[in-house]
Amino acid sequence: MHEAIKPLLDIQELDIKMIRLMRVKKQRQGELKQIESLRIELNEQLKLKEEEISDFDKQVSGLEEKLQGLTEKYKKLESQQSSVKKVEEFNALTQEMTTVEREKASLEIQTSNILDKKVAEEEILEKIKDSLSSTETNSQELEKEIKGSIDQINEEGQRLKIERDAIIGNADPEILKIYERLLRNKKDRVIVPIENRTCSGCHIALTLQHENLVRKEKAIVFCEHCSRIHFWQESEAAEGAETPTRRRRRRTVKA
Ligand SMILES: [Zn+2]
Repeated sequence: MHEAIKPLLDIQELDIKMIRLMRVKKQRQGELKQIESLRIELNEQLKLKEEEISDFDKQVSGLEEKLQGLTEKYKKLESQQSSVKKVEEFNALTQEMTTVEREKASLEIQTSNILDKKVAEEEILEKIKDSLSSTETNSQELEKEIKGSIDQINEEGQRLKIERDAIIGNADPEILKIYERLLRNKKDRVIVPIENRTCSGCHIALTLQHENLVRKEKAIVFCEHCSRIHFWQESEAAEGAETPTRRRRRRTVKA
């Protein structure tokens, strides 16, 4: 293995852990947002319903005012009627009073219809209130749990950062820069071994020439397909990578 690669591999393992951790954190934050937006939605529904109901109240009081006016008008006509002498005038007033009564009846029907609607909306309002309060109760527990796990994630992240800071000095700064840029792009391992003459990052086959270049360990060699940095894994188990070692041994036996 090229000497510059070993310290980077240790950093990479920490970085991969951090990337996974941040993915989980994002997920959990998304869950918190979902709970919050459900609550906001219910509160908006509640406000809307309350507005509708108060609008009905306004309509009803407007109609009641009109009814009051008509009742007074009717009384006035009645008293006018008691003082008229001519039959035509009396009849004219009777007709007017009938019209007023009809108007009153129509307003009463309107009022009662609106009151019916109001009752129906009030039932819906109660349901919204119920579901809001049960959401509050259920989500409180869940939110607490999620926030707790985010705290844990942050702590773990801090530990990883400290660990990383402690070994960062072992890496060549130039290659570290390249590595970090690759990592930002791929968000996955970017220093990978060659396995069966294939890049274990993008799984595209490599040339023998490329493999030899990596095996010589004279320079940092990049995958020509995915730009990852390649390294050659020695077959000794001491390298710590068991799976590729086993595979290579089996191949050796077959050959
Ligand atoms: Zn590749």
